[in-house]
Amino acid sequence: MVKYQGNMMSLRKFVAGNWKMNGTGENLAEVRAIAEGAAGYSSVDCALCLPATLIERAVRAAPGFAIGGQDMHQAASGAHTGSISASMLVDCGATLTIVGHSERREEQHESDAQIRAKAETAIAAGLQVIVCVGESDSVRGAGQAVATVAAQLDSSLPQSEGAAAQLAVAYEPIWAIGTGKVPSIGDIGEMHAALRQRLIRAYGEAGRSVRILYGGSVKAANAAEIFAVPDVDGALVGGASLKAVEFVPIVVAANPADG
Ligand code: PEP
Repeated sequence: MVKYQGNMMSLRKFVAGNWKMNGTGENLAEVRAIAEGAAGYSSVDCALCLPATLIERAVRAAPGFAIGGQDMHQAASGAHTGSISASMLVDCGATLTIVGHSERREEQHESDAQIRAKAETAIAAGLQVIVCVGESDSVRGAGQAVATVAAQLDSSLPQSEGAAAQLAVAYEPIWAIGTGKVPSIGDIGEMHAALRQRLIRAYGEAGRSVRILYGGSVKAANAAEIFAVPDVDGALVGGASLKAVEFVPIVVAANPADG
């Protein structure tokens, strides 16, 4: 059997920031600075996923720059106090959303089935969607990381017609989020290769074009090495996306040398 060598297609890198529960109006200057900094690297797709309260103002502050949500409800509308729908995100000018972040899977007990439903609703509304998956420390310690994350992906992926065209996947080991710990380059490569195979199994050839982002303590100092791993098509960045001085160098690292 020929060993999998990585996707034959080189995909345009995608670097998305996740501000989590950080940011008020005074941070819009930072959104603008990030948008302006990223604009110089047009061969990289860049986005910020912001608190819902900032989305509309950020879209106005940084016209043409992709602004997204961090979550949304799977239903179109209704009695879901405190939740945001896909059409509300679109109405604010968002063009993408994260679903299935581990903080929501853990804190809100969101299931794979719910995340799949959210992704399908987001796609139907015309949003790009980043579906997050990742293993805990104990799962990795038990040698079950690849099997666990692959199964999580299988049951979280949207099944709607043409879904692959609006989809990115973020592999985020839970133990690497906000901790400064990063898996070895070999472990990242092994996971991304396994996820690529699952995407091809789910979507056929279209699965080769779905970008697989790595997330978990990505910084300017480690980004280039991570981006060089086959099937790492970008990054989902938490802490280092809050400031242009930390985030823009990650976008620069994703920019091909001749770009
Ligand atoms: C995240 O929560 O999506 C994330 C990757 O966080 P950090 O970059 O801070 O580890």
